[in-house]
Amino acid sequence: MSRTVYVNGDYLPEEEAKVSVFDRGFLMADGVYEVTSVLNGKLIDFDGHCKRLARSLTELEMTNPHSNAEWLAIHRELVARNGIDEGMVYLQVTRGNPGDRDFAYPPADTAPTVVLFTQAKPGLADSPAAKTGWRVISVPDIRWHRRDIKTVQLLYPSMAKMAAKKAGVDDAWLVEDGFVTEGTSNNAYIVKGNKIITRALSSDILHGITRAAVLRFAKEAQMEVEERNFTIDEAQKADEAFITSASAFVMPVVEIDGAAVGTGAVGRVATRMREIYLDEMRKAAV
Ligand code: PMP
Repeated sequence: MSRTVYVNGDYLPEEEAKVSVFDRGFLMADGVYEVTSVLNGKLIDFDGHCKRLARSLTELEMTNPHSNAEWLAIHRELVARNGIDEGMVYLQVTRGNPGDRDFAYPPADTAPTVVLFTQAKPGLADSPAAKTGWRVISVPDIRWHRRDIKTVQLLYPSMAKMAAKKAGVDDAWLVEDGFVTEGTSNNAYIVKGNKIITRALSSDILHGITRAAVLRFAKEAQMEVEERNFTIDEAQKADEAFITSASAFVMPVVEIDGAAVGTGAVGRVATRMREIYLDEMRKAAV
């Protein structure tokens, strides 16, 4: 069935949705994106996505083409038109089509390209993987050094995901200077006793909005949170490990580079944090 997608103000059948070959998103990965989950037809943590989108655009000297209210209206319209109950809305803003290819940014008044589409994912919240956990391998983190900007240049994370697939596991954790930065498309955590440990925010990692929510809920649940670096060796010896992202929510990690984490079974803390996250975010969904 053909989806309805949004391109620069129009709602179109996906076959008719077109972007210029001169678009800087296509030629230079000059664009940013957000992925918002939909549960029960409602948007999860919408404000968080709007705030981060605004920040990414500012960091790249791009103008935000819409107010948060306008973004919300477009998201809701796409969810309705495509009948999404569980799934996600993908949003991308690029620096647009300046005509000729040039490394220099085009004039600031060049119209950005705005594309949104939906993906249905029935059973998203009830993922069987959450009951068995992910297995991950480690790979070197050779991405650029502005990982705090959510750009569409996702080639290296794709390569790392393929390395994981070829190794027969679920994902890869990226390692730089001996320490885990994050997963290919998620933030990484370990658990020791009552303490959740995750890398501190900097330009080394994406500032996950699920990370912000989960750390807030963890503190409310009287868990200790320590924001610091950890190694693969420390993670393998931890009681539990997990990842967070807007589309995987909280996902336990049970094996790292072939070594079982803790008992090798899905942990109590990861399971509890997933429950709390889903409960609270469903309540706040818009
Ligand atoms: N790190 C990276 C590299 C990511 O691509 C993502 C997914 N967008 C995350 C972390 C998690 O961020 P969020 O919780 O906002 O989805």
